[in-house]
Amino acid sequence: MTSPPPELDSIRDALLGARSVLLTSHAHPDGDSLGSQLALGAALRQLGKQVRIIDCDPAPDLYTFLPDLGTIEIADNVTDRFDAVVVLECSSLDRTGLGGLDERPLINIDHHPGNVMYGTLNWHDESACACAELVSELIDTLGVPLTPAMATQLYVAILTDTGSFRHANITPRTFTICQKIAATGINPTDVASQVYNNGSLGRLRLTGMLLERMQLEHVSHLIPDVTIIHGNRVAVLRLNDAMLAEAGCTPDDIEGIVNIPLAARDVQAVVFFKDTGAAMRVSLRSKGSVDVRQVAVSFGGGGHRNAAGLTIEHPSSETDSLVLSRVAAAITDSEP
Ligand code: 5GP
Ligand code: MN
Repeated sequence: MTSPPPELDSIRDALLGARSVLLTSHAHPDGDSLGSQLALGAALRQLGKQVRIIDCDPAPDLYTFLPDLGTIEIADNVTDRFDAVVVLECSSLDRTGLGGLDERPLINIDHHPGNVMYGTLNWHDESACACAELVSELIDTLGVPLTPAMATQLYVAILTDTGSFRHANITPRTFTICQKIAATGINPTDVASQVYNNGSLGRLRLTGMLLERMQLEHVSHLIPDVTIIHGNRVAVLRLNDAMLAEAGCTPDDIEGIVNIPLAARDVQAVVFFKDTGAAMRVSLRSKGSVDVRQVAVSFGGGGHRNAAGLTIEHPSSETDSLVLSRVAAAITDSEP
């Protein structure tokens, strides 16, 4: 394990000195944002702190099994006073979707590239596979032992953010933390089953519909005087409200489906257009050195190199084509 970052001590001292602490994370919570908030919340409560966790969106149904999920409050705005506010998993403050935080001293703990360091204290470590990796180091530094509940929360965060130990940034540190998690006596198989074997039949139907209609795009690779066409490099999935209704699904059921096309050897990137409201949400996934984060950033979104997202406020066939051509360019750029 690398030596602890200097920010960690300042963050520990700030938290130990606080009586009331607010924890928050990003809109559309995922396993990492939920698990990180709940585990840190539990640790701080063990230290006798008054802890509130406030998010702007409710957790997907899938995570109902997480211990203490019901303690997360949902609000658009925070007015109460807190001695410390910890923002987890957010590259910028607007990712929280929460008003009332701008004027406060903030503790920013995140692993997303491009974090804009909006905190008074910032602990930004892109090498972490999940924010929960940082949270678990913080809990250690606070001197709080892991309970089985905290272990479950942290494990869900790491399991989901690494795509079941497949994505980037899995390091010896990841497994050291998982060792401590398993040592609490929780059963990682049961936790994985809750996350992955507990979906609705509608989700299965929707997966079939999306894959049935999947488009495969080619990428042309220009080298001097020669154009090489690489087939089936980009998989395109499209979802609309009618498909959700036909499959009997809610938007929660979509989670994770975007990763499926990566199972094909030829596919280097996935573009998932979700036309289920006023704006178009687009999820991007890729393999290896194909950088879809840059594509997301070019449309005002963000994320990681291999998993990123963006929103198009006024979608059209032109904006769709532009996303696809930038993804194709990201693949071309990644190839020698
Ligand atoms: P997803 O496709 O699962 O919604 O998002 C994939 C990754 O990209 C996650 O790490 C998520 O936090 C990030 N992400 C998704 N949408 C946005 C966005 O609009 N802005 C930023 N900064 N990150 C995003
Ligand atoms: Mn994360």
